[in-house]
Amino acid sequence: MDRKRKMEILAPAGGFEALMAGVENGADAVYLGGGLFNARQFAANFSDEELKKAIFYCHGKGVKVYVTVNTLIFNHELNEVTDYLYFLYTSGVDAVIIQDAGLLLLIKEVLPGLAVHASTQMTIHNQYGANFLWNRGVERVVLARELSISDISTIHNKSKIELEIFVHGALCISYSGQCLFSSMIGGRSGNRGKCAQPCRLPYKLVETKDSKIVNEFSAPGEFILSTRDLNTIEILPELIESGATSFKFEGRMKRPEYVATVIRIYRAALDRYYSNSDHYFVSQEDLNALEQVFNRDFTQAYLKGDPKADLMSFTKPNNRGLFLGRVVDFENGQALVKLEEDLSIGDGIQAWVSIGGRKGETINSISQNGQRVEMASKGSVVGLDLPKGIRKGDRLFKTYDHQLMEKAEKTYAYETKISKVQLNLTVKGQVGKPLEVYAQDEKGNSVHASSEIACQEAIKHSLTENVLIKQLGRLGDSEYELGTLSLELQGQIMLPLSELNKVRRIIVDKLEKHKGESISGLSHQEFLKNKKVFLNKAQSTQKRRKKHRLKLNVKVGDYASCVEALSQNVNAIYIPLFPLKNKQFTVKQAKTSIISGKNKGIKVIPYLPRIVHSDKINDIIKALDYIRQAAPEGILVGNLGLIQLIQEIAPEIPIYGDYFLNVLNWAAAKLLLREKIVSLCLSPELNFTQLERFPNEILEMSECLVHGYLPLMVSRYCPVAALGGGCDRSSQDNLACNRQLGLKDRKDYVFPIEMDYHCSMHLYNANVLSLIDSLQRFKDFGIGGIRLEMEQEDERQVLKVLGYYRDALENETLDRMDLIKKLYPGGVTKGHYFRGVE
Ligand SMILES: [Zn+2]
Repeated sequence: MDRKRKMEILAPAGGFEALMAGVENGADAVYLGGGLFNARQFAANFSDEELKKAIFYCHGKGVKVYVTVNTLIFNHELNEVTDYLYFLYTSGVDAVIIQDAGLLLLIKEVLPGLAVHASTQMTIHNQYGANFLWNRGVERVVLARELSISDISTIHNKSKIELEIFVHGALCISYSGQCLFSSMIGGRSGNRGKCAQPCRLPYKLVETKDSKIVNEFSAPGEFILSTRDLNTIEILPELIESGATSFKFEGRMKRPEYVATVIRIYRAALDRYYSNSDHYFVSQEDLNALEQVFNRDFTQAYLKGDPKADLMSFTKPNNRGLFLGRVVDFENGQALVKLEEDLSIGDGIQAWVSIGGRKGETINSISQNGQRVEMASKGSVVGLDLPKGIRKGDRLFKTYDHQLMEKAEKTYAYETKISKVQLNLTVKGQVGKPLEVYAQDEKGNSVHASSEIACQEAIKHSLTENVLIKQLGRLGDSEYELGTLSLELQGQIMLPLSELNKVRRIIVDKLEKHKGESISGLSHQEFLKNKKVFLNKAQSTQKRRKKHRLKLNVKVGDYASCVEALSQNVNAIYIPLFPLKNKQFTVKQAKTSIISGKNKGIKVIPYLPRIVHSDKINDIIKALDYIRQAAPEGILVGNLGLIQLIQEIAPEIPIYGDYFLNVLNWAAAKLLLREKIVSLCLSPELNFTQLERFPNEILEMSECLVHGYLPLMVSRYCPVAALGGGCDRSSQDNLACNRQLGLKDRKDYVFPIEMDYHCSMHLYNANVLSLIDSLQRFKDFGIGGIRLEMEQEDERQVLKVLGYYRDALENETLDRMDLIKKLYPGGVTKGHYFRGVE
């Protein structure tokens, strides 16, 4: 890749104003969502017409448009999403951004020329993940936001794919695409663009055994899952040199003024770098403006190493603005404030009061030395009318800067003119025949349309040149404008205006279709043919089995549990090669377990960590080298990168796909089957109806989760380390995190957390999933197996639960739910199987 090529600035566009704000302030590309399948379901988004207008506007200015189609897709939506992708393709989008692996298969088979970018929701965080996608035709990947600059460089050096990285805006505490928090607690799936942001709510760190608050390292605030916002303006040169291709700005839910300000400042910073890279600097004014437009406090995340507590916004989960000053006294009912920043009439402020939270106010009057003034400068003492309850010493923050917003708004207030394509029309008409319109654009494309009804003899208003110019020239938001008009009318004829409008619309539609076909190189007929061939793959080649036995599979977390499970009649046991910090399982024990499983006819399948950064790849390779001596019947993985890794270094080992691969539709399953995956765990976000829509041959080789504490998120953050609890995250022998902790929410539910081998946090649901009284449903739709997920449980619990499920499988009339409830007093959930997600 050409390292000298200039970095792309990629602006968010939640609506048309924000789009103009980005473009007019120097973006090279914008990303936006249409009405469908887009992960920002709460932004304004773009209708089909607006989207075409946006593309026309952006392309007229040399700006690229990427459209997010980045939700996971259910089987029944594949038809609609195919049409939508075709629409996007023929509208001229420069790329689509996807999360669902099924869409990758779909696009390659139905719309092969359409450029694909992989969303950060695909959780790509090492070179193997990047290469998996590159080898399958993806042009660009949006990397996970947990990477360091050196991780990014490694990926750049070892992969040809373009790298897009987030440089400014909100972060998620979970690796994106690995979060079921909102989904599991409220049915609003983050994977479907409906995240309710439970991570922005208050929690307390507690011991799981007694729910007592852990005092020795208490957080300075209650928002212990709420991240600060990313701000990298000061380290832009290093990011440019990391090998990334595109700088992405978060913010499709933010106001246009925000987009204008942030893009303007980064554009200027980037231009400064390119004009003199040795003397890069950022002014205080720019730093202040970035803070002013929106911040939850700023962080550089993991780019320069572990941020520990500097990742987190413990005291406040939303915008805090710029520190304005403290209340120093009261005089004549007004608060006297010593200003640390300029203040103007119209600004918005928020007071952080010592008792009672925060109070907001718009500034309507400022007095200085007994005079009313419009604005006051930093350093002066002013009198302000503030809400009651504010005391001496309370802090004020400026949350809205009227002048900055006005300045931002001016940059995009007027839609600048973009030259349109000239359309030359020839109109032929005579009484008794339809009106014929021939259109030719300046590129030589020509189309024709005729009216539905015939022209009549004019009694009063005959068609004149003026009427035709007015009606046919109304080309509005389209990219065309009327060029010449030549008339070949015989006699005085008339036609209703509505007919003329219809003809005009047909002309524009035909031209757009023409253009779309030439962009995609695909006629509408060919598209329909491709689509039919593709969707036909959903047809089962095999009959649905009803009377089969469900395979019983179990995931355990430690060696003792594996030993117990080996004494039971199970099909497969998943064992960790890298156990959680609380658990014991050496690679030697793993090897022994595989061999002993073989003697008993039980598949013992090692599983790999969900997240493996580039600097940990060697650990994985070493473990695989050791374990392959026992010739395991499979390795369970939950990330595309690990599929690539196994194919490269241990191709003889069959691959099992875990549910972290987010398989929600048959197309995603088919894509993975091509990778020689022999077994798939389907997403726990599917309900029974959606599961039934999978082809039988996929169901037969798949399993569903029916039991266990589901992981709600995996985060690179270690709360113990962040709160000064003695974890240095460097050594596996450091036992500071080796304790059973949980997060207690406002309703007193405790969500257990476990730290993995490099101290990333896994947060589990407060309730245990159990479908022990509904196993027949699973049999009925033909799934091959069921999985008990018991990574956290000890060997006694594993043995009991296995026994209950085996009983329930062998004798449908046995009710074992009561026993499960006794074993898990925290409560039992049925997950999404009966309801599904939004
Ligand atoms: Zn730790």
